[in-house]
Amino acid sequence: MNATRSSQVVFLTGASSGIGAAIARMLVAEGHRVMGTARRQDLLEAVAEEANAGASGEGRMVTRVVDVLNAASQREAVDACVAEFGHVDVAIPNAGLGVFSPIDKADLTDWLTMVDVNVKGVLITLHACLPHLVASKGLFVNIGSVASRNVFPNSGVYCATKHAVLALGEALRQDLGKQVASTTICPGAVNTAFIEQTRDAELLDKYRPGFKDGMPPEFVARQVLLAMEGRGDGIVSDITIRPDFI
Ligand code: NDP
Repeated sequence: MNATRSSQVVFLTGASSGIGAAIARMLVAEGHRVMGTARRQDLLEAVAEEANAGASGEGRMVTRVVDVLNAASQREAVDACVAEFGHVDVAIPNAGLGVFSPIDKADLTDWLTMVDVNVKGVLITLHACLPHLVASKGLFVNIGSVASRNVFPNSGVYCATKHAVLALGEALRQDLGKQVASTTICPGAVNTAFIEQTRDAELLDKYRPGFKDGMPPEFVARQVLLAMEGRGDGIVSDITIRPDFI
């Protein structure tokens, strides 16, 4: 296991904002090397600039513009990460979204986009990274949710996608546990732009304050570090964190 490797190589999706950006900044500040991907190049480059300004030791962030649904581009990004840093120790398929709506008023496109990005995007990332994780005896960090274990009103399909992610992490642990560690982080509300994907004005008004008062994304990033550093005698298989007001 790589518990003692000081500078780890991390492949991270959804690095342009919110939780992904916080993970990138924190890992680079701790001396880790990050390949961060997302679609919005300007935001991604701004995150890398900030992360690299706060780097310590070998810490460094490089970027690649990728849509997680483009399997060929995703594979190229993983290859680019290996070319840059030599290997992959940790894969974090963080890119995801939730569009909340009562189930009978939902737009089918929103359902399919959530399934695509939150499930297929994770699978595409896992498939591209897995040979490298096996080679490095690496770590797969899933970004699940409290919605991985519970179902909440107006977000059934989002909850279904996050249940799938938890199942996938568990499957990986069962099939390959001796070679690749798997941690699923299950946060409650985090203060990011996440809720702004919801277009139902009534739901947006209702939910926005809870996300605004949610945990800072850096708290999720700290759990990633915990998963990376906590290996050795065993693995951290799942972590649930919640805002302190619920
Ligand atoms: P943000 O909206 O701030 O970030 C979402 C990230 O996903 C962006 O970097 C975005 O990049 C990326 N993304 C979305 N679609 C694609 C795509 N097709 N291809 C590549 N990248 C994509 O939200 P969060 O940071 O909050 O969300 C990150 C993860 O955390 C998600 O998986 C979410 O489900 C999970 N989560 C969030 C919680 C919260 O309360 N905020 C709670 C629990 C889990 P770009 O648009 O540039 O491509």
